[in-house]
Amino acid sequence: MAAPPPRVSQHTTRSRTGQAPPASSLRGGKDEQVLSAAAARIAQEALRADVTIESLAKLAHADAAFAMKLLALVNSPAFARSRAVTDINQAASLLGIRGVRTVALSLLVSNFCPGDESCRVLMANSLRRAVACRLIAAELGFKDLDSCFATGLFLDAGLLQHAQHDLPLAVSIASSPAHHRVLREQAEGLLPHPTVGGDMAAGFMLPDETVEAIRGHHAAEPPATALGQIAWLGECIAGVFESPDVERARVTAIAQARKVGLGSAQLTSILDKLPAQVAEVAQALDSDVGELHDLDTLRNDAGRLLADINQQYEGVIRKLGVLLREKEQLTAELQKANDALASMARTDALTGLPNRRALEDELVRCASRATRDKTWLSLVALDVDHFKKLNDSHGHAAGDAVLATMGRVLTEQCRKGDIPTRYGGEEFTVVLPNTNAVGANVVAERIRRALEASETVFEGKRLKFTSSIGVASALGAAVNPVAALAARADEALYAAKRAGRNRVMSAPMREEPTVSAAPKVDDHGFADDEEDTLVTRVSALPGQ
Ligand code: GH3
Ligand code: MG
Ligand code: MG
Repeated sequence: MAAPPPRVSQHTTRSRTGQAPPASSLRGGKDEQVLSAAAARIAQEALRADVTIESLAKLAHADAAFAMKLLALVNSPAFARSRAVTDINQAASLLGIRGVRTVALSLLVSNFCPGDESCRVLMANSLRRAVACRLIAAELGFKDLDSCFATGLFLDAGLLQHAQHDLPLAVSIASSPAHHRVLREQAEGLLPHPTVGGDMAAGFMLPDETVEAIRGHHAAEPPATALGQIAWLGECIAGVFESPDVERARVTAIAQARKVGLGSAQLTSILDKLPAQVAEVAQALDSDVGELHDLDTLRNDAGRLLADINQQYEGVIRKLGVLLREKEQLTAELQKANDALASMARTDALTGLPNRRALEDELVRCASRATRDKTWLSLVALDVDHFKKLNDSHGHAAGDAVLATMGRVLTEQCRKGDIPTRYGGEEFTVVLPNTNAVGANVVAERIRRALEASETVFEGKRLKFTSSIGVASALGAAVNPVAALAARADEALYAAKRAGRNRVMSAPMREEPTVSAAPKVDDHGFADDEEDTLVTRVSALPGQ
């Protein structure tokens, strides 16, 4: 049966992406590259639903280097076979499909490790996790020990991937305490190795459960799946051997083990067996993992490690501090830019007044406040008289100067709380919250006079202009819909135009407002009961 082309070879080498590099980019000479490609093919073949042990044995046979490694691993004490195996078919059937796949994956992962002596720690960490997962699985009575070994093997594969791009950094991270590694990766701007390793496993088409277990192995609490829990505890147990405070890490591991149903005696037995088994697997794989110590030796060596860790820590904290300051600065700059943009989007450049968009928001806000508080809301609509003529006679720039005057006068004539806006062209709207019709008319008339009195000096000429103004007011819920209130102000404005311009006209009240017994004084000093006088004084619009 022809195996599909190994997917691993389709990956490109990209830093910080979490993709598996191509087999050809891995360490070593031609032999190792060939071995890696063969291992990838066998690992994938072993995952096929219709795979047979014969077809795997045939593939293994076809590759002498792989066959030799397979035999070495089967005969290693870590795989605990009762007698020596010399024949590849026998080895394959002894190991089973999953076992052959595990061997293939072990060879793949060991080939990821750059050939540098300094990276022993990377391979040691990977094998430690693989063996830890296998031992945990055995203690838990899990059947598929090889899948657990394979999963454990990939827990730190992300760090092997980092090593392809920056070996000293990957080695430094792998040498820090296990539970600090993700933090260090983040401080260095690297993708965390659980993500990278999960992506690599997905790239090798390992089962989803394995991929998820790899991604979740640094989670704060045990994941939901059995394999996830094995990987999670495998990380914790391996971490005991990599901690500067071995005793504390051991106590933590006991507590974590309990969460997945392992007692302290079982955990202790795993911790006892682990170093020797890692050494055996490493030997079978021909991997240099340096010296592996048991916990007692490590305890005595903790002082030296602690000094190393402190040094690394200082570097991390410094880097985090710099990153944090940079982030704060960027956030503040972004906020400023956003504020400026938001303000620009709501401000009319010529007059400096809020524009139509801002007006619409203000209307909604003021209408809901008037409704809620049962207060008055008045709108004053203004339009420059014969503005077209002014433009035609003096030029567009002169027209602009007049509009700027309009903005200045409106700002001067309005009180705090009043909102003068440029609606568009030579049309303006002033929103007068908490202002009744009497007050609004007084404000409108004051504005009209001020505009009439103003002079716009433009290119030595003194330009004069007038405006027509319409006013509409409503009380409480009657302000709604606010578009209708605005339309009434416009109608009053056009009535003022028709009546000869340069005047203020008020829209008649739609309905009699319910005025409270005690007259309230509005923001412009006018009591509600003055309203009746005004309604009779202001001329009604034609047709109403
Ligand atoms: P009325 O008294 O009836 O309001 O007459 P009007 O000429 O003011 O009214 P109309 O709506 O016919 O003309 C408004 C003019 O305003 C037309 C347009 O070119 C001009 N305009 C609109 N926006 C601007 C602007 O930003 N700057 C200048 N200079 N002119 C503008
Ligand atoms: Mg006009
Ligand atoms: Mg107009």
